[in-house]
Amino acid sequence: MKLVSDFLNEMKRNESRGRCLHFERGERCNEIISAHSIQKSNQLGEITEAGHVYRITANMSGLRDNNCQLFPKKIGWKKASTFSGFCKHHDNKLFNPIDNYPLEPNPEQVALYAYRSMCREYFIKENAATTLKNFINKSSLYAEQKKFLESSFIGHSLGFQRLQYHKRYFDAALLSKNYSEFEFLTLTSNSPWHLQLSGVLYPDFDFLGGSLQDLGDFKLPLDFITFFTAPLAQGWSFTLCWHASSNSSCVALARSLGSAVNLGKSPQDALLRFSFSCCENHAFRISWWDSLPALAKDAILSRVALMADPEAPVPSDYLANGLEGIADWEIENIFTTLTTSP
Ligand SMILES: [Zn+2]
Repeated sequence: MKLVSDFLNEMKRNESRGRCLHFERGERCNEIISAHSIQKSNQLGEITEAGHVYRITANMSGLRDNNCQLFPKKIGWKKASTFSGFCKHHDNKLFNPIDNYPLEPNPEQVALYAYRSMCREYFIKENAATTLKNFINKSSLYAEQKKFLESSFIGHSLGFQRLQYHKRYFDAALLSKNYSEFEFLTLTSNSPWHLQLSGVLYPDFDFLGGSLQDLGDFKLPLDFITFFTAPLAQGWSFTLCWHASSNSSCVALARSLGSAVNLGKSPQDALLRFSFSCCENHAFRISWWDSLPALAKDAILSRVALMADPEAPVPSDYLANGLEGIADWEIENIFTTLTTSP
């Protein structure tokens, strides 16, 4: 499996090859920094114990026998969720309203969190496409390996193109400060919080199990949503945010969460289920995980494994059912740009 280790090393090299993804990148870009996609002091700091957090990680040695094991890995909080996708000048200037102030939430802050979530995904997808492209040209590959990598490259290139499409909308809205082009739904809580995350999703099914869009359709652009946790002046929040160009699926997704709650489903269960089903860029409190019953830990790890398995079909009710009774926080308020209650 030298191919796998060579590939992972090449990916690492690309990750450290930083670049600025800011919508005005150019002359003013200076030193590329290791930016946090989950804010360091106010977010990761909140859940850090003895300098560490947990993240669910795959045991890489399992790649050799196709028996990939998932487990919560202890990682230093300063390294959690970083990516080299902005220069210091642009990072400090652009993200000041969210890095130095709690979420109100106002439209600019929400747009900035969404932008950072999108840019992290862009950085990763671009790296994967570049790495594969460089790799395919290596003469030492067997024909079969080359064929496999070529088909992976096509998949990754399509994924990257899909994201480029959305980045154009995000860039234009931020450049013109048209933050009202973003819609959002923010749920807030005063309970202790244990989980931090930031990510993106092409929503396929809603919180009631209804179908939203066909991810296998490569002819049309897919609707795209970002999500993130953020600190408030008091308590914390979980937000779904999307650009209005993705209203079709994203409004339906947000409204289905309201409908599920009206039908008696728990919003805290829904958020925990969403978090572990849809987000690999997460961190959680070590003592919270360690205190969970074994059945709850198994249920979470099985859910992450199911969603990460490219061979397993995604169940249509993955946001509607599962992982009940594990979340120990209370959702108290909802802020949204949607005109009537979702
Ligand atoms: Zn820059």
